[in-house]
Amino acid sequence: MNGLVKRLIHSFTIGLLAIWLAGCSNDSQTAPSTSHAPTPSESTAPSSALPSNLSSASATVDTGTTTPKEPQEPETREATLIAIGDIMAHSPQLPGYYDQVTKRYDFSSWFSEVAPIFSQGDWVIGNLETPIAGKDLKFTGFPRFNAPKELAEAVKGAGVQLVSTANNHAMDRGYPGILRTLDNVKKAGLIPVGTSSSAVNRQRLIIEERNGIRMGFLAYSYGTNGIPVPPEKSYAINLIDVDVIRDDIARMKQAGADVVTVSLHFGIEYQRLPNADQTTLARELVKSGADIILGSHPHVVQPYAEIDVPATESDDGTDRKGIVIYSLGNFISNQTGDWKDVGLIFGIHLVKTRLDDGTYETHWDKIAAEPTWVQILVKNKIKTYKVIPLNRALAKKDIPSLTAKDYANLRIKLSQINKHLAKLSPHLKPTPAK
Ligand SMILES: [Zn+2]
Repeated sequence: MNGLVKRLIHSFTIGLLAIWLAGCSNDSQTAPSTSHAPTPSESTAPSSALPSNLSSASATVDTGTTTPKEPQEPETREATLIAIGDIMAHSPQLPGYYDQVTKRYDFSSWFSEVAPIFSQGDWVIGNLETPIAGKDLKFTGFPRFNAPKELAEAVKGAGVQLVSTANNHAMDRGYPGILRTLDNVKKAGLIPVGTSSSAVNRQRLIIEERNGIRMGFLAYSYGTNGIPVPPEKSYAINLIDVDVIRDDIARMKQAGADVVTVSLHFGIEYQRLPNADQTTLARELVKSGADIILGSHPHVVQPYAEIDVPATESDDGTDRKGIVIYSLGNFISNQTGDWKDVGLIFGIHLVKTRLDDGTYETHWDKIAAEPTWVQILVKNKIKTYKVIPLNRALAKKDIPSLTAKDYANLRIKLSQINKHLAKLSPHLKPTPAK
């Protein structure tokens, strides 16, 4: 790891803090590639969407070297991961979205305000906290969920690409529910992470390349709602076990992942701060090579934090810098009050740089945070829902269903949640959405 290059890139990217997800090419979204094996080494051209100021930063990095011969511009690639929290389907969320004529649901309007933000991500991942196991197994909400396949279609339609299916509701329709959910999620065009249909599939690695950056995705849950996983089918869902996760991270690195993102369904419901189990596990995983940790389960937003591990403590003997969001909160649900209706669109911007010795170094350099709020309206006892991105809504004030009083309340909510988010790493300044 070249500390000088890293420092210089950092100093130049500080100037970009005012730009949400600057330089993210969305070209790759039209042709996302799922690779279950190592992909060929880096050889593609640098992203054409590099902002000019970052390109000049790269050139300046080069002049910082002492060798005057052939000023070779280091190749730099960028991409942004966007993460959201719990995608829930409580029973009051269904009736307003069923068409008696077509006999189909359509939940796409839930996400109309956030889809433009998702389109700025090169990878977009959420936590699908319900099986999608078919109508014959009955659609239900709490305590054992099962949602229509149109939910997966709406999530995909909004721009989400991957979903963690490793959560405590994964087994709510038993093992068949896991298999059917995998099928339905894939049919909708989403990539499921954390549950598997066989022992062989459990060993497959999900590595998604965008703009020349290969991101490995892993997901684990603390448990399964008290529903036992058949011992002979332990591959069905990844449960949190630090040794297993370490092993999976190592396999990701061997397979050529530049960045490893681990989704963890952990923590205590409705607790607004992470507990010692969460902070200890997050640090352990950064030591072992995880770069990004995406928490879910508490149904309220918990802060993000930078985790710095010195070379003397990390498994690979390098200084490591991880980023964790302990809980992304509810993205869509019927829960209200005590911050249960506030979620987060979290962005992590990544830079991959070719170093003087020809090797590559990838790190996250800035984060973006767009808190969301679920607006629930009731008409003739039927509820309708809309996920409102707060910075964006307050900047544009163009959402017809919101009154001046609503906007005033949202401004207070936003300032409170922003303070809360920054509690553990106040030096990190996230950018809001455009
Ligand atoms: Zn949960």
